[in-house]
Amino acid sequence: MPPVPEGHTIHRLAARHRELFAGQRPAVSSPQGRFASGAALVDGRTLVDTEAYGKHLLHHYEGDLSVHVHLGLYGKFSDGEPPVPAPVGQVRLRMIGERHWLELRGPTACEVFDPLQAQRLRDRLGADPLRDDADPAGAFRRVATSTKPIFALLLDQSIVAGCGLIYANEVLFRAGLAPTLPGRSVGAEGWEALWADLRALMKEGVAGGRIDTVHTEHTPEAMRRAPRVDRHGGEVYVYRRPGQPCLVCGTEVARGPLAGRNLYWCPACQRG
Ligand SMILES: [Zn+2]
Repeated sequence: MPPVPEGHTIHRLAARHRELFAGQRPAVSSPQGRFASGAALVDGRTLVDTEAYGKHLLHHYEGDLSVHVHLGLYGKFSDGEPPVPAPVGQVRLRMIGERHWLELRGPTACEVFDPLQAQRLRDRLGADPLRDDADPAGAFRRVATSTKPIFALLLDQSIVAGCGLIYANEVLFRAGLAPTLPGRSVGAEGWEALWADLRALMKEGVAGGRIDTVHTEHTPEAMRRAPRVDRHGGEVYVYRRPGQPCLVCGTEVARGPLAGRNLYWCPACQRG
């Protein structure tokens, strides 16, 4: 199963869709039919802007209507230049602009929001490290009063929006923090460091389109090792590396469920 797209993917999509369609009046339809009434509401309206918030994507149209998309596990966008292909499979949403087409298949959510609904979505999401209006202090207030493991808190979208499994596992490794450390034991300085690192890693993810989390001295070139082969593509310390040697200390990377999610960690490097 592929990993659920993390926030950097959604921010890339928002930027891409803005570039392809902003200022235009795309033809919007739902070849599959499940989004037909929603598509009819925005069809032919000017796409004013796009927005990413955590793992949620919004297309804002004139007239205060927004298309809200959550990809979930199976959702996928594709786009290209004309000719527009005949719809193959379950195309929930199709947009045809002046120079590009776009298709969306298999999302968890694809619906039209009014401004109040869009604001409710933002209000229930936590701080998104990729947004300039993020409030890491607000997120820390939740973390600092929680007895839950920091790993679970990082994955709670109402605390940190857009952080998924790969970033949560990797940022804890890089901080040398035990994933089971209760939120209230992380401390303000620990949180500031975690947040800053997460933000930097996710910004790199937006720029590069993949998740790389290893420091320069642990790249394949520096370590003279073979590059990682994995569907998610990037160079990482612990994510989906169970039983393999830690790139820092050589200890076998451990795996275990925590809060119902796949946790990977180095038992030697992450004692703190
Ligand atoms: Zn280690």
